[in-house]
This record gives sequence, C-alpha cells and structure tokens, in this order.
Amino acid sequence: MTQQDAAPRRIADGVYWLGGCLSAFGHGEEVHYHVSAYLVIGAERSALIDTGDPAHREIVMAQLAQALGDRTLDYIVPTHPEIPHAGNLPALLERYPDAQIAGETRDYHLHFPEYADRLWPVAARERIDLGGRELLLLPAYIRDLENTTWAWDSGAGVLFVSDGFSYIHDVPGPDDEDDEPVHLPGQCRLYSGEMPEPPTVAQAAYGTGRALYWTKFVDVSDAFAAIEKVLDEHPTFFIGPAHGNVIDDVAGMLRTSLAAHRAVYVGRGLGQ
Ligand SMILES: [Zn+2]
Ligand SMILES: [Zn+2]
Repeated sequence: MTQQDAAPRRIADGVYWLGGCLSAFGHGEEVHYHVSAYLVIGAERSALIDTGDPAHREIVMAQLAQALGDRTLDYIVPTHPEIPHAGNLPALLERYPDAQIAGETRDYHLHFPEYADRLWPVAARERIDLGGRELLLLPAYIRDLENTTWAWDSGAGVLFVSDGFSYIHDVPGPDDEDDEPVHLPGQCRLYSGEMPEPPTVAQAAYGTGRALYWTKFVDVSDAFAAIEKVLDEHPTFFIGPAHGNVIDDVAGMLRTSLAAHRAVYVGRGLGQ
C-alpha cells in the first residue's frame, strides 16, 4: 500500500474510511485484500467501527489521528471478535485511555480480561449517541459469527456490514484457491462505482461462496428481504464492508449480491 493509498478517505461529513490492505501475488500479479475500519465523528463523540488488522496497527493509528484532528476517540465498536476486526483493541485502548469498547461485547472479557472494565454492552437495535447523529446497531444479516453486529450512521446514511458485501473485482484465475475479495494496487480507496468495471454476479458469487461457506446451504432470500427492510427504514447512501471497496451504488449492488447468493445456493443443487 502506498502512502497515498493509506490515507483516510472522507466518505461523507464526519465519516472516514480507514485501514490497510494485505497483499498477495496471484498469477504473477499483485492483488490486495482490504481490512478496513470506519470512523464516525459526531458533534460530541466519535466511534471507530472495527479496528483494522494488527499488521496495519501503525497505519491505522496514524490515519485515526489524522481523521480525528483535535478530537479524541470515545468508542470502539468491533463488529465481531476476530483478529482483522478486533485485533488492534489493546493498542487503541492504550492510545485512547478514555475510550470504551461498545456493542456486542459478550465474550470480550475472555479475550481482554485487563480491559473488562471498559466494556459497554449495546444490543442490536440500540443506539450510540454521538451528538447530532447516532450509530444504530443492527443484527448482521450476513455474518460468520453469531455475535456479528452491523451498524448504521444516521448522520450520513452509511451502513457498516462487517464481512457482508465483500465483492471481488478481479478474479485471480479459474483454478486459484484464493478465497478473498481482492483489488489491484491503486484501487484501495475507490468506491465500487469508481472501479474500472462493476463486479459481475459470477465474481460476487465466487467471493460469496468461499468467504461465507454456509451460504451454500442456506437460501438467503429471507436475509435479503430483511436487509431491504433495513434500507427502506434507514436511508443508506454508502455501504462500508470490512473486506471490499466502499459501495456507492447501493441498489445495484444489492441486486448483484442477491443474485450471487442465489447462484451459490442453487449451484450446490439444493435450490429450486
Ligand atoms: Zn472479516
Ligand atoms: Zn489495496
């Protein structure tokens, strides 16, 4: 990741796209895999959704300081307790000694007993007031852990979806075992609509079928109906996944993603 790629991108007023990329080589070409985090700054408080990967700890810390300016970090909201999403918690808690871990914190005292007094459980459908805007926590409709949480920013209409909506844009190759949604160097901070080509249903299905293995066995139509209801009730202009480019064509990507999930499900021979 170049210095320019590593800069935070301001998505909307008070919303920043942070994090780094892991890189790999496939078929002689370097490809990237996002491990993103998002910062929301309200009039009174700020919240970081996910922590970025420990491999990017210094990048994330520098981005965070740059985006916060003279503000401090009040809440850290990991979407679930896995390394790319929660691995920088100790460093963040040390750097921001008044910050709390907020959200679905049920097991965090086991991972971080020394920080048990800094947990603030906030259940799905409850709100974190940031001053002038709220972070509404939502159940994750596409998830890999039971306690995965999504969040929606009322200030700018951004939905943070953790491992959901992780598209791949450039399939490394038909025989490649790589199961990650990747992009090319230089595309790290592009919105989906700024990429050279939007992902096809086949590409989205490729990423979906491997990254979220269970989707082969589950008809996700109900989940997508629930997601559409969320979008109807909470106007959403951007979707921020942890492992994919920020989505600016919300309606179009929803259609592509649903078709991809259906293709994965039907492709296994269970569908109608
Ligand atoms: Zn993840
Ligand atoms: Zn990248």
